[in-house]
Amino acid sequence: MSAPDPLDEPLATGVLRGPAAEKLAKAFDIVTVGDLLRHYPRRYQHWATLTPIADLRVDDDVTILAEVMSATTRQMRSRNGSMMNVKVTDGTHVLDLAFFNAARLRHVVIPGRRLLFSGRVTLYQGRTQLSHPTLLPLDGEEEADALAQVGRPLPIYPATAALDTMKIRKAVHTVLGILGDVPDPIPAGIRARHGLIARTEALQRLHRPEDDDDWRRAQHRLRFEEALVLQVALARRRAADRAGAAVPRVARPGGLLDAFDARLPFRLTPGQEAVAAEIAEDLARSYPMHRLLQGEVGSGKTVVALRAMLAVVDAGGQAALLAPTEVLAAQHLRSIEALLGPLGRRGMLDGDARGTRVVLLTGSATAASRRRVLLDAISGDAGIVVGTHALLQRGVEFGDLGLVVVDEQHRFGVEQRDALRAKGRTATPHLLVMTATPIPRTVAMTVFGDLEISTLRELPRGRSPIVTHVVDAGRPAWYRRTWARIAEEVAGGHQAYVVCPRIGDDTDPDADADGTEPAVPDPDGTGAPAPRPLRAVVEVVEELRAAPELAGLRIAVLHGRLPADERDARMRAFAAGEVDVLVATTVIEVGVDVPNATVMVVMDADRFGVSQLHQLRGRVGRGASPGLCLLMADGASDGSAARLDAVAGTLDGFELARVDLEARREGDVLGAHQSGSRSSLRLLRVLRDEKVIEAARHEATALVAADPDLAAHPVLARELAALLDDEREAYLDRG
Ligand code: ADP
Ligand code: MG
Repeated sequence: MSAPDPLDEPLATGVLRGPAAEKLAKAFDIVTVGDLLRHYPRRYQHWATLTPIADLRVDDDVTILAEVMSATTRQMRSRNGSMMNVKVTDGTHVLDLAFFNAARLRHVVIPGRRLLFSGRVTLYQGRTQLSHPTLLPLDGEEEADALAQVGRPLPIYPATAALDTMKIRKAVHTVLGILGDVPDPIPAGIRARHGLIARTEALQRLHRPEDDDDWRRAQHRLRFEEALVLQVALARRRAADRAGAAVPRVARPGGLLDAFDARLPFRLTPGQEAVAAEIAEDLARSYPMHRLLQGEVGSGKTVVALRAMLAVVDAGGQAALLAPTEVLAAQHLRSIEALLGPLGRRGMLDGDARGTRVVLLTGSATAASRRRVLLDAISGDAGIVVGTHALLQRGVEFGDLGLVVVDEQHRFGVEQRDALRAKGRTATPHLLVMTATPIPRTVAMTVFGDLEISTLRELPRGRSPIVTHVVDAGRPAWYRRTWARIAEEVAGGHQAYVVCPRIGDDTDPDADADGTEPAVPDPDGTGAPAPRPLRAVVEVVEELRAAPELAGLRIAVLHGRLPADERDARMRAFAAGEVDVLVATTVIEVGVDVPNATVMVVMDADRFGVSQLHQLRGRVGRGASPGLCLLMADGASDGSAARLDAVAGTLDGFELARVDLEARREGDVLGAHQSGSRSSLRLLRVLRDEKVIEAARHEATALVAADPDLAAHPVLARELAALLDDEREAYLDRG
């Protein structure tokens, strides 16, 4: 074992006896020296140049040196809390200060005492004042120290009422003052290559910077450390995956895959060819494939995945396709059946002997059909089993599961995809994850760091452009014009979608409409209530049926509360052109493929996320005619108006994914599966720190290849163990 780490020492029995340690533990769960030193400053304040009170101007950031004349605290009637009003003087003029809920300052802001006050000048009832300035006592032995600090960045910590930033700063200083060298998890060679300062130095500079450069270098080094530990964890996971055994699956020449390729009505795009080759190579290996296939809706992922499944069937195995909803599972079954034709009907009259059988298993299957499907799966009779979560249940077994394809990764956790893979009998099945949500590179490297990534960038030829407009729903003329546009498309022989954020007619207006994800996200994260109920399917359909513009049109509704067979029937009717306008929730978000649909109207579009809107509009423009997407919104806040404009302004899903992710908190970016490491990722931001993450990934891969057990890197190994503990804990918490 390595030498004891001073960061592991408990605060309470060591340097920080008494109430300070107790408060730290209570407020932030800070128990050890390391906990305290990893309580990083939220930001750094600069003491502005000293300004005489007479020269203060509104909106200036100033620091004044002044003496307290009076301080009075009063309870506020209108709000819960207290207000402390202080008058200070610099000898010539008087200035008001106001502190909200600052009872704790009563012992600092005492008449006669001299302090430094720093903050922004505001105007209150016609008088300049400083509200809630930062302050630094200036008397006695602290004076020299305090004055020295004026020239330095002042760390501001996450604090509570009981434990303010000054107290935390003091505790940190005490601890840093006696801290020896701490072990460094970043190997010296990597530090040298990337110009990183040592951990001890980083902690000193972060908490006691002489200048801005100090804390920036410290943050950079600590960020690298976070990235490295995470990437080492992922590199080890990849290495372990590779050590596992899988059965190589190679398509038979002249077999099912060849027969399929021969009947495909189109040529694969060069992008599809390239990805198909990568997958074929993976499948031929004796360790399991772990691949993420990302590409926009309509980029042709399904065809590529189906070819992988057919290769496995060719080699005597089976493939399972896991979809997030029943609608999608049914849709997959239909498109696979259509693409396979007679090759998917082996054993039937018109079946092809080279072919296989495709079956569907969902939660709403009848007992009899479920029994049949289970039998087909375990006997190996069905080469391809398509399904929802129902596939994950006990009792679902396969004769020889060789490949698991997971559609729409963001709806499944790692645990779920692993649950399906555990159904491989002797070896681990290969894994292919498909997602239509484009994921920026660094996010992919962090969230899906254990997967290799393939990307389909081009859409197959013949795809038409989609034009998107934002429509102000508050203007009656535009509103009517929108319905007229639908009528025009229908008159031209086309079909339309109208998407609403909720179903309606429910007791709980925020009910999760489709059992997939909240139908009404809070994209601004403000939690502010919507001023009126959001548009609902059941109500909009009535409106459309009554609209003169749409008289005579065949209008149907689709949402997640309909029974599965009913949903399926309506989807088929729409696909068959028996319905002109489909009013739906986001059930149609993914995978639905009706090339004749050319226009989509999204009601309350500002209530949807950017990527979701992009995903939704991918339902139109799938045929020969151009697509039109109308985003209806009224009273959109500035933030949501900007998001809608972004959607209207580009068709680049990667760019929109970035816009989307930037609006979220980091924990949400990382998703549930990384949330356990949230506490480990303190400074690293996956969108911003692309270079750091890439460099760390590179180093981590090399390091794990050379020393898989991290025998030569005990400090790093310990950090890693802590990270994995965190993850496990988060997993159990969710449990
Ligand atoms: P995704 O799964 O990425 O949304 P799909 O595989 O469902 O995309 O393909 C969308 C549509 O494009 C389907 O109708 C499919 O048959 C068709 N398609 C796929 N690849 C090509 C291609 N290379 N050329 C022409 N059409 C294609
Ligand atoms: Mg698809």
